[in-house]
Amino acid sequence: MKRRQLLAAGGACGACLMSPWLGAQSEWQTPGRFPRPPLDTDEGGLWALMDREETRLRRSPFVIRDPALQAYVQAVACKVAGPHCPDIRVHLVNTPLFNASMAPNGMMQVWSGLLLRIENEAQLAAILGHEIGHYLQRHTVERLRDTKSRTAFGQFLGLFGLVGAVGQLAMLAGMFSYSREQESEADRIGLTLMRQAGYDAREAARVWDNLLLEIKARKSGEAQNSSPMFATHPSAEDRQKILLQLAEANPGGEAREAHWQKTIKPFRHEWMLDEIKRRQFDETLALLNRMIARFAGEAEFLFARGEVLRLRDGEADADAALKDYLAAAAVGGEPAETHRSLGMIYRARNQRTEARTSFERYLSIAPRAPDAAFIKNYIAELGS
Ligand SMILES: [Zn+2]
Repeated sequence: MKRRQLLAAGGACGACLMSPWLGAQSEWQTPGRFPRPPLDTDEGGLWALMDREETRLRRSPFVIRDPALQAYVQAVACKVAGPHCPDIRVHLVNTPLFNASMAPNGMMQVWSGLLLRIENEAQLAAILGHEIGHYLQRHTVERLRDTKSRTAFGQFLGLFGLVGAVGQLAMLAGMFSYSREQESEADRIGLTLMRQAGYDAREAARVWDNLLLEIKARKSGEAQNSSPMFATHPSAEDRQKILLQLAEANPGGEAREAHWQKTIKPFRHEWMLDEIKRRQFDETLALLNRMIARFAGEAEFLFARGEVLRLRDGEADADAALKDYLAAAAVGGEPAETHRSLGMIYRARNQRTEARTSFERYLSIAPRAPDAAFIKNYIAELGS
């Protein structure tokens, strides 16, 4: 019903008839739920294989086991998937890269690097809608039956039993390289689904706008450490443009930012530390500059930028890091590690009093920190 209203609204507008939105979407209807394919078919075999991998994924130490966050993301997936909700199972995985993937049996993976980067529920709905688009159009089966990609797929299936569990997680997510046409189709369907679910479709383009900032900051040669989504999807610039055009033909809807930000706040510190450990400093700085501009006054982001600068250790980086740590402390609610890092910089500069005060502050906020003994040694070394 909602969908019919949406198309009718588009059809009522003369200019909209020319829009790529209506042209591309008017023929597409959400298909009905699929029955489980028989085991003696290629599709059935693939489902069985994916079921086995899903069992492994459930036991993986990388899975984020937080019932509230899990329920939240699953609920957004359900809103977007509509009647297919019972067939889509979201798994949240701790990996600091921007990625989501969909297996043909309904197993969806969403990585923490993606959750860290999106700004609101509408952006999450855009990504989930895209992945659900691949599922609804059964793109994997299309690929499986496409003679050109069959050899590569066969090799992949052969490899499956041989690699370790960690490798498999990444492989599972990256295994389905779709064609450019399939990606564009998933983009269009994702946009239709998110808009039907009541979200502002312009947020889909913003996801790529934001990622472009990181892609542009990247030094050549760093690409191999970046998200699988950058490697297998059409260029972010093309996508951003097309998605924005589609969204503008169908305005309205919500972003639901406050709710999303509140939900991920307890996880952000750990995700940020994982992000910094990638040591892709220029990309991470682009991400943090964006976050600081958008969420001014959040000590967490100031601390994180200080960490990146301190670890990058270029000319003037220590000065800039010091400034960020002090700003984080001035805002309040800063992570305890802010004071440990301040202590490290002061210690390196032989500012002994400031170093000692900072280390003491760190231990007073985090008396049970795993490195407490180590820091106490520093304090003793610095004297009174
Ligand atoms: Zn895709």
